[in-house]
Formats: sequence, C-alpha cells, structure tokens
Amino acid sequence: MNLPDRYAERFDEYFDVVVVGYGFAGAAAAIEAHDHGARVLLIEKMAAPGGISICAGGGLRIGNDPDKVFAYLEAANAGTTPPEIHRAFAAGMAELKAYFERLAEVDGARIVLREREGNYPFAGHDSLCFLEVESIPGFDAGRDYPHAHSLRAGPNVFKLVDDNVRHRGIEVRLSTPALRLITGPANDVRGVWVRSTRGLQAIGARRAVVLCCGGFENAADLHSQFWQLRPVLPVASRGNTGDGVRMAQDLGAALWHMWHYHGSYGFRHPDPAFPFGIRMKRLPDWTPGSTPPRARMSWIALGRDGRRFMNEYHPYLQDTGHRPLDQYDPALQRFPYVPAYVVVDDAGRGMYPLGKATFNDPDVEIYSWSDDNLREVELGILRRAESVEALAALIGVDAAVLRATLTRWNEACAAGVDTDFQRPGETMVPVATPPFFVGEIWPVVSNTQGGPVHNARQQVLNAFGEPIPRLYEAGELGGMWGFLYLSGGNLSECFVGGRIAGRDAAQLAPWNATAAAKNAAS
Ligand SMILES: Cc1cc2nc3c(=O)[nH]c(=O)nc-3n(C[C@H](O)[C@H](O)[C@H](O)COP(=O)(O)OP(=O)(O)OC[C@H]3O[C@@H](n4cnc5c(N)ncnc54)[C@H](O)[C@@H]3O)c2cc1C
Repeated sequence: MNLPDRYAERFDEYFDVVVVGYGFAGAAAAIEAHDHGARVLLIEKMAAPGGISICAGGGLRIGNDPDKVFAYLEAANAGTTPPEIHRAFAAGMAELKAYFERLAEVDGARIVLREREGNYPFAGHDSLCFLEVESIPGFDAGRDYPHAHSLRAGPNVFKLVDDNVRHRGIEVRLSTPALRLITGPANDVRGVWVRSTRGLQAIGARRAVVLCCGGFENAADLHSQFWQLRPVLPVASRGNTGDGVRMAQDLGAALWHMWHYHGSYGFRHPDPAFPFGIRMKRLPDWTPGSTPPRARMSWIALGRDGRRFMNEYHPYLQDTGHRPLDQYDPALQRFPYVPAYVVVDDAGRGMYPLGKATFNDPDVEIYSWSDDNLREVELGILRRAESVEALAALIGVDAAVLRATLTRWNEACAAGVDTDFQRPGETMVPVATPPFFVGEIWPVVSNTQGGPVHNARQQVLNAFGEPIPRLYEAGELGGMWGFLYLSGGNLSECFVGGRIAGRDAAQLAPWNATAAAKNAAS
C-alpha cells in the first residue's frame, strides 16, 4: 500500500487527543482523556467496534494490596518488565473497583467481585481476585451484539464502556483505519493519517495520539519474524494486524515481549474460508486451594508419533498450552507436534464440548460447538475410530505404539499419578472405552503480549529508552506481560494503562495553540 508521508502540510481537522482502536484500552483512554478536559476522537478500523475485547471472558484482575500484587507481577514477569511499570499497574488495579462503580452510574451495571487467586503460586497470589460486570439492565449480548461471540461476559464490559463513551458525547468513527502517524520536525507526534468514507485525511492531535489498536494476532509476516512455531491460528478478530507495532516502529519505537502470546491449542474449522482457529475448552485454572477445584480433563495430547509429549493440564492452559508444541526437529525438518492430536474415548467425548469459537466479525456466521461433540464428528473436526487399530490408522502411527501409549496412560489414571509428565492426578481421565475420537490440534493465538516498549506513563519509548514525544499506547499493544501471564491481566491492563495514557495525554500542553483556541471555542 502507498502510505502518505510522515509530514502533513495541513490538517483536515484537529482534536486534542486521537485514540486509535475501539477495544477496552481505547475506550478507557478516550473516557479518561475526555474527563480531563480533552476533545477526543476515537477511531476504529473495523465496521464493528469492540476488537477482541468484546470476545473476552470479561474478568478483570484486581488486587487491593499493591505491595502484594507487585510481588506477584515481579515473579511472573521474570525481569522482563521494569519495576516501575509493575508499581503503576498495581496502583491502578487498586482503583479499578471504584472506577467501574463510577462507570456503572451511567447504565446501572452490576459490578461484582469473585474470589480467584493468581494462576501461579508466587508470593502475592492470594491477594488477587476478579472484577466482573455481571449484568446491565435491559442488555442482552446475543440480541444487541450479534457479531460478537464471546467467552462469557466481555460484551457486558463493552456495553458499559460504550454507554460511557456515548454518554460523554465522545466522537467515534468506525471503518476508519489509522494508516501512519504524522510527526513534526522533532519526531513529535502531531496527528495521524486515516482513511474513511471521507477519503484520506490528516487528523491533527494537538496533545497526543494514543495507540490502542491491539496486537498482531492476524499478521502472518510478524508471526514468522518473531515466532518459531507456525502456523499459529488467530481466534478472534481480523482487525489486529500489528498496525500499532508498525506505526510506532516508524518513529523508532523499541519492541519487547514479541515472542509472548496468549494462546494454547485448538482446532481448524473444516471450511477453509472460516478465518479463525477454535480454542480448546478453557478449564479452570490450577491454583492451590482455588474454587472451583481442578477440573477433570477429558483428553490427552499425542504427537505425530502416537506418543504423549506434554502435561496437558498446565496451570493455565491458555497461557502456556502451546509452548510444548514449539519444537522444531531439524533432522526430520518438521514440527513434530504441529499438528498434534487430542484423543478422548466415548465417555470423555460426552463430558463437555472440546472447543468454543469466540470472535468479533459481522461477516462470519457464528459457529457453535455442540455440547456432545457429535456435530464436530459429522463435520470432520473430530474423527471416530472403533478400535485402537482404527485410531492408529486414522493418525498414521504404528498400532503397537499407540496401544502402548494408551495402556500406559490408563494405568497412570488408575494409579492417579502421571510419572511421565506430572499431570495432576485429579485431572486424569482414562482413554479406554471405544469408540475413540481424535482431532488435529494447532497452536492458536488469542492475543499477543508484546509490541512497542512503554514506560509507567504509557509513553512509547525509542530504542534508547527515550519517550517518543506525544505518543502513548495502551492495552495489548506493547503488553507488559513478559514471561507468565496472569488471567484477567489483559483486561486490567487495558483499563489501567488506558486511563494512565488518556490522563497524561490530555494534560500535555498543545503543540498548536491556534487550533487549541478553535477547539475550545467549538
Ligand atoms: C476469546 C478471548 C477471551 C479472552 N478473555 C480474557 C479475559 O477474560 N480476561 C482478560 O484479561 N483478557 C482476556 N482476553 C484478552 C483480552 O481480551 C485482550 O488482551 C484485550 O481485550 C485487548 O484489548 P485492546 O483494547 O488492547 O485490543 P482490542 O480489543 O483488540 O482493540 C483493538 C482495536 O483496534 C482496532 N485497530 C487495529 N488496527 C487499527 C488501525 N490501524 N486503525 C484503527 N483501529 C485499529 C481493532 O480493529 C480493534 O477493534 C481474551 C482474549 C480472547 C481472544
């Protein structure tokens, strides 16, 4: 695509703060900038707002003891994120309950807290819980957001922020992608080029631009440069193509955490035109003493040689479930676990749906995974085998190897101990009684955790650690999660980071005083 130049001779319009991307981070930044006196424009590339945010389970991590939360974050991020960012995040988390209660004044949303410790038993894990938007009077997600197929309560959170954006009269423009940042002579951000039904426009941002345009789940070129594992199937939106990474890099931004993504493994839809992978069922997290307790997991995963290769029940499947698949065999010149297979027996097949499609796209018909997994057998996502030999033939392995794998697994289930991969005993379920069902599994990405580096004020930093003037980011773009993720942390990051960025951006002195005066008058 031919991009306009980074310098604009004139601007078509001016706002104080331009926020790019209308997911949760964009909403939080726009609301906060508005509440600090800025005239805000919120632009969204896609025809439907909500990004992947609207697909989310909807739980936000909060904790009221910033010191304990800080300790947890320091351990989970293993030195990849500076302490001052963790401090700012922990302080922001402690404000979220009161913040959400203020948002709820606009539409009567019911805000609840749920007990849930951190996913990993680091110091401070017991100081954390979830905040959720349980309900909003008169709101029905299926009816009101038919394009959004969510894990659970993400649409409630989106409805709440959208009500607040509308209530404040913040201007939102859909189908308006940001193309490139516009800079002044000192590499200071002065606006952004956008394309919309009005054509190509230079939008001036007199105080700052806040990039909240998500990650690079749908950018195959970035996957192949930063990840060894491939292919990795995006699950939720076609809009997140790394635009924010590219726009910030254009101005010299440093990058971090590009290797890290929230993923696990999942299925391919039989229709090659279906643009998303389908995530495996999300099981409760493995947290010592947590409620609900560890769940029974119906499946085992096998490599292409018919052998188990991993503990299927990671403490948090969507955080690390794909990492054991990330092995390239240079002798065989292939990824031995891409695809891998999940196998259940008939009892396991009946336990619960193995997958769930979650995406935000008005142009894609919803695919609902059946409760008993039988529709998926009809569709060919799962294949049925009446015997171990038939199962071995289906996946192209030696029947004796497969029989040995299943026998060893079933003996381990009887003993309640997995000496091969240390899967927790309470989660183990035999795979013993035919018919068997097998599905190919592929690595999937729900959201990426990296991008441009930012500081505790959410200013984007260049390769020497200096802020790029008037450029902020929030949300999963440039996420702070650098080693192990904390469930619910992405949503908190949208709100904590979005609020910091919006507030800071609104308080900058304008670079264009003439336009400032006009804005004040308008
Ligand atoms: C199925 C699923 C469940 C999840 N559940 C949870 C959960 O329960 N808790 C949790 O913490 N996290 C969860 N996550 C992760 C979390 O949803 C995301 O990390 C977070 O919502 C990202 O928000 P965001 O605002 O940064 O990005 P998004 O919500 O993706 O918003 C970015 C927006 O920017 C737009 N955009 C992109 N490029 C441009 C451009 N050039 N110009 C203009 N607009 C642009 C996109 O179209 C998009 O609308 C889940 C993710 C998935 C996929």
